[in-house]
Amino acid sequence: MYLPGSKFGGNDRLILDIPNADLKINDSSFIKDGKGIRKKVYDNGIMAIRASNFETTPRNVTRIVIDLAMPRGYDISFDKDSNKIKVDFLNTVKNIKLEERNNAEAVVIQTDEVPVYNVMDLGDRVVVDVLNSKLKFNNNKISVGKNGIKRIRTAQFKPDQNYDKDDKIVRVVLDLEEGQSFKNVFVDHEGMDILVYVNDKPLQGFNYKKETINSSTLKISLEKEGKYNIDYVDNSNLIILKVPKDKIELANAQLNMNDNMIEKIDIDDKDSDYYYINIKLKDGTDYVDKTKYSVTDEIIIKFENKKIKNSKYKGKMVVIDAGHGGKDPGAHSSRLNLQEKELALDTAIRLNKLLEEAGFNTFMTREDDTYIGLYERPSMANELNADAFVSIHYNWHPNKKVSGVQVLYNGDDPTRDNKTFARIVKNEMVKELNAVDRGIVHRPKLVVIRETKMPAILAEMAFISNPTEEAKVATQEYRQKCAKALFDGIKRYFDEVLLK
Ligand SMILES: [Zn+2]
Repeated sequence: MYLPGSKFGGNDRLILDIPNADLKINDSSFIKDGKGIRKKVYDNGIMAIRASNFETTPRNVTRIVIDLAMPRGYDISFDKDSNKIKVDFLNTVKNIKLEERNNAEAVVIQTDEVPVYNVMDLGDRVVVDVLNSKLKFNNNKISVGKNGIKRIRTAQFKPDQNYDKDDKIVRVVLDLEEGQSFKNVFVDHEGMDILVYVNDKPLQGFNYKKETINSSTLKISLEKEGKYNIDYVDNSNLIILKVPKDKIELANAQLNMNDNMIEKIDIDDKDSDYYYINIKLKDGTDYVDKTKYSVTDEIIIKFENKKIKNSKYKGKMVVIDAGHGGKDPGAHSSRLNLQEKELALDTAIRLNKLLEEAGFNTFMTREDDTYIGLYERPSMANELNADAFVSIHYNWHPNKKVSGVQVLYNGDDPTRDNKTFARIVKNEMVKELNAVDRGIVHRPKLVVIRETKMPAILAEMAFISNPTEEAKVATQEYRQKCAKALFDGIKRYFDEVLLK
C-alpha cells in the first residue's frame, strides 16, 4: 500500500506486506533497528528501506517499508524464475477525465509524480507523451465529442526513433474535431496533473493553491511590473484586489473554491482599466499580503483560517473508509440501479469535508473508484496512528420491508472502546435520519474493524433493498444528512470520550 505522508507534513511511504514469509536478510549494509533492520539509501528520491517481522498472529507477515523523499509512482512485479519481487519507481498514468480547471474545461491526465512530458502537434491530433511512466488506467478509448475533442486514446507506447528503446512512455492522443488545430491547444501541469485545454482558455498567471486544511496561497503573475491595490471591506469577509488590465489578461469569471479558506473568487472585467477581483473569505479566515514590493510582477496573498487552526480537534486523525470499490461493487439496488460502492464514496467525501471544516486531520482509504484490499484498509489507519476509524456501507436484505440504520463494532478488544463509539454514532444516525433503529452489533470477525488498533466502527447507513430508503439515498440531500449524522457522532465521541 502507498501512504501519502506528505499530506500531513511527513514523508510518503510504500509498504509491502509479504504473508507467510520470515525475515532472513544477511546483508551487512542493513543495520538493526528495533524489531527489524534498516538501510539508508538517499538516492533517486528513496531515503531508506526498512524490514521487519511485522506480525506473527494470526498470520506471519514480513513488512518492507520504503521511505520516500517525495511522492512517487511505482510498479510492482514478481519474477517467478528468480523468485524476486521487483519495485520500479516510475510515474504512472492513473486516470484521464474532463474537468473544469482554472475556469476552463480541461482534459486532466492524473499521474503519481510531478510529470515530465512531451507535447506534439500532428495536425488533427495532439500527442502528450508522459515520460518514464506506466499506464495504470483501463479506459483506453474515451469518446468526448465536445470542446473540440473527438476522442482520447491512451496506450503504453513502444518507443520509436524519438526515444531510447528502453524508455517507458505512456502516450495520450487527443483526436481533434474538424476545424480545430494546435494553435487552440494549451498544455500545462498543476501538481501531479497534466492539463490539456482545447478551444477553451484557462486563466493564465492566476494560481490559487490550498496548502493545508487551514491555509492557502493566491499568486498572480503579471506580464510586466505594475501597481495593484488590496482592500478589505469591513464586516463582510470580502477583500477586493485591483489589478491593472494592461499587465495581465484575465476574464470575467466566478471561481468556486469552497475550501476552508475561501468561498469564491469573482473576477470582474467591466472596468476599462482594472480587473476587480472579489475574494469572499470563509468565516475565520485572515489574509496577509506577502507581495514584496508595491510595484511588482507577482502578487502573493496568503490565507489562514484561524478558527480551524485553533480547533480543539487539530491534530486528531480520523480515517474514513468508503466500503467496497473498483471490482467490488458491494450491494446493488434493483429499482434505481444504485451501487453501494458509489453511495459509500459519495458519503465519505461529504463526511471528509465536514471533518476538515471542523479542524480534524482526515485520511480516506480511497478517494475514487479503486479496489482496496480488506487488510489494507485497517493497515493504513494503523500506519497513520489514527485516532478513530469509520467504515461507511449501505445495507441490503432479501426482504424489501427491512429498513433502518445499524452500526457494527468489535467488542473483543479491551484496548479500545469500540462499543461506546458505535453507540454514540448510531444514536446520532437515528436522530438525524429519523430511521428505524437496528441497534449496534458485535461483529468480532469483520477484518476492517478487527485489525484496526484505534476505536473503529462500520456504519450501515440504510437498506438500498427497501424502496423508501432506496429513493431517499438516491438524493444528494439525504446523503449529506448521512454524512452529517456520522460527523455529529464522531464529534460527540471525541468530546465525550477521547478528549474528555
Ligand atoms: Zn458493504
